[in-house]
Amino acid sequence: MLRLAIQSKGRLNEDCTSLLQEIGISVDDSKRKFLSKSANFPLEVLYMRDDDIPQVVSAGTASLGIVGLNEVEEKGFDVKIEARLGFGGCRISLAIPKADEYPGPQYFNGKRIATSYPNILRRFLAGNGIQADIEVITGSVEIAPAAGIADAIFDIVSSGGTLVSNGLKEVEKVFFSEAVLISNGSLSDEDRKSLEEILFRIDSVKVSRGQKYILMNLPESAIEDAIKILPAMRSPTVMPLAAKGWCSLHSVVCADELWEKIRQLKAIGAEGILVLTVDKIIP
Ligand code: ATP
Ligand code: MG
Repeated sequence: MLRLAIQSKGRLNEDCTSLLQEIGISVDDSKRKFLSKSANFPLEVLYMRDDDIPQVVSAGTASLGIVGLNEVEEKGFDVKIEARLGFGGCRISLAIPKADEYPGPQYFNGKRIATSYPNILRRFLAGNGIQADIEVITGSVEIAPAAGIADAIFDIVSSGGTLVSNGLKEVEKVFFSEAVLISNGSLSDEDRKSLEEILFRIDSVKVSRGQKYILMNLPESAIEDAIKILPAMRSPTVMPLAAKGWCSLHSVVCADELWEKIRQLKAIGAEGILVLTVDKIIP
């Protein structure tokens, strides 16, 4: 049976739990157990700290894991990346005191840089021919310059607000991360089959993200124009209405383009437009 390691609490926990729910794998996590077996899929979930997930998957204690790509890259354990999951997005950046001028990576020559990601940082510095001291800190890296422990930091940034409130500015975006599904390279045939099913379901959820189902009443004479506006997966569904000369047209559109499409559809005579959320898309 597959064993999936996910973060027990923290930024990735909620998105992992909702992903499992969206792909129809029910796991009872109400009691916050260490290990929880799914009631409807051959899978058990192991709850742990995110730092340990790459190691546990590489050792085979868990066959699968969901963790930030940053942890996979930093820890360097031998695991296979099966899917990018589209949540937990962040970057690891170099930041320096706000008042300092930044001439380029050579700024860091001879500087002390505080980080929890020494391996990723070491690679960046080596790639740019920079000699700097790395101070490994777990915990609040962003306070290191003010505390006199370092001149600069290399840390996770998502909005940048924490940097600003600590008098720092981001100068190099070094590594881009998101949550990924990782596996142990050697799965049994049965586990590999279950994993294929999980990947198929994750794909349908990912495809449906940001998509809207749209339906409207349309004069029959405007169908050709509507098809040009709404290319859809194959082509839009057109159904007759009881009212003569009118039809109902259904399609799926990208949420980003929704308002622009609505404007164009109204211009060709669409009425009674309904927009619905899409749960899954199976191409
Ligand atoms: P744990 O107790 O499990 O070790 P943690 O404190 O190391 O938790 P979190 O802060 O919960 O970790 O972050 C988990 C992951 O979330 C990070 O490794 C990263 O991939 C992702 N992430 C996304 N945005 C951010 C952010 N703004 N700050 C930190 N991590 C982020
Ligand atoms: Mg951690």
